[in-house]
Amino acid sequence: MNLQLKKFIEKNNFHQFDLKAVFFDMDGVLFDSMPLHAEAWVKAMNDFGFEFSLYDAYMNEGRTGESTIDEMFVKKYGHAADQQTKQKIYDIKAKYFNECPAPKQISDAFELLKMVKAKGLQIFVVTGSAQISLLDTLDKNFPNIFEKDKMVTAFDCKIGKPDPEPYLLALQKAGVAKNQAVVVENAPLGVQSGVAAGLFTIGINTGILRPEELEKEGANIIYPNMKTLIENFDEIFF
Ligand code: MG
Repeated sequence: MNLQLKKFIEKNNFHQFDLKAVFFDMDGVLFDSMPLHAEAWVKAMNDFGFEFSLYDAYMNEGRTGESTIDEMFVKKYGHAADQQTKQKIYDIKAKYFNECPAPKQISDAFELLKMVKAKGLQIFVVTGSAQISLLDTLDKNFPNIFEKDKMVTAFDCKIGKPDPEPYLLALQKAGVAKNQAVVVENAPLGVQSGVAAGLFTIGINTGILRPEELEKEGANIIYPNMKTLIENFDEIFF
């Protein structure tokens, strides 16, 4: 068994770890979409006179668009943005994003999904995304992996990440306990959400952030890519 997993079990006083479900974040874990989102955020923020770097965009990954914009307003003006301005900035960000080509898969993500599936574990996607045709997109890229009732999206959540809400909902939908699931995340706020839900949280650092950003939020393990997670598969997914 993985040493970090062993520590997690001891710390939580679980009698055992009985894995039944794996909760995958989407952007930056399944799809290499973060470079496109980040670029679109930087352009939109700059259009409105905000200093906003690619690093800032990666640090805010997982937050809703509204709260990302509010944060910038508070920093610059000391108050949140009004609804109309928020919508305007968000629409421009969405326009830039939609001009980009469809994002590719994260390397080895499909391989990992197939390995998890072969183990007979439930596979969930837990995302802040509000794409209407999300299941179609997932199906096209990762055939025979995802199911309609095994998803938690923006439509299910009132608060969203970094709150534990999305992962608590996933536990509920999967009908499993906290010693029966693991989270795979790439973003600091996503890790924060998984950890706050009390789940063993694996950080895959697929973007430009220093690994310390994931460590600070309490990630139980941090791997530089999916390949390394696959290499350590048997000591976690058993
Ligand atoms: Mg992500």
